[in-house]
Amino acid sequence: MKIVNYPHPALRVKAKPVAAIDAGVQKAAAEMLELMYRHEGLGLAAPQVTLDYQMIVMNFAGDPDREDLEVVAINPVIAEKKGGLINDREGCLSFPGLYQNVRRYKTVVVKYFDLKGEEREMVCHDLPARVWQHEIDHLQGELFIDRMGSLGLHRSQRDLDKYVADFEKAKKKGDLPPGLEAAVGVRHVLS
Ligand SMILES: [Zn+2]
Repeated sequence: MKIVNYPHPALRVKAKPVAAIDAGVQKAAAEMLELMYRHEGLGLAAPQVTLDYQMIVMNFAGDPDREDLEVVAINPVIAEKKGGLINDREGCLSFPGLYQNVRRYKTVVVKYFDLKGEEREMVCHDLPARVWQHEIDHLQGELFIDRMGSLGLHRSQRDLDKYVADFEKAKKKGDLPPGLEAAVGVRHVLS
C-alpha cells in the first residue's frame, strides 16, 4: 500500500459505500493507520491509497500512542455543519509540503460505522472537525485545492506544477503510480 500524490486520477474517484466489513477492509484499515503515522498525518482516506470505497482513518493528535484519539470511519456522512466557517492552514498527504488556508465549518456532527459495524455519531469542533471535513471530501473526489479560492491556488501553483511534472516523469519512465488502471471518472480542476 502506498499514498499517491496529486494528480493521480484515483484522487478524483467517487468512493463507493462499503457493503461488508470483511477481513480485507480490516487489513486495509490497519495498513492505512500505519501509513498515516509514518507520514505524520492526522487523517488518510481510502482513495489516497487507490482504494475506491468509503473508509477514512484519523488520529486527531497524529500520535500512535494516543489510541483513544484513533478513528476508523466507514461510510461516514456529515449530518450537520455549524458554527460558521473558519479559515485556517491545512495540508494533505497527497500534496507533500503544500499548506494553505482553507475555510471549514467550526463544528460538525458526523455519523459513520466503526470496524465492528456499529453505527456511531460524533460531534467535533475546530481541528478534528477540519480533519473530518477534509477526509470526507476525499471520498467525493474533492481535494483541498478545490476549496482554496483563487489566491490560495495562485500561491500553490508552483507546487502543483511540480506534482504534475513528477507524475508525468513517472508515467514516461513506465513507472506508473499504482492503481492507475482502476481510476475512472477523472476530472481536472486546473486545466
Ligand atoms: Zn488529504
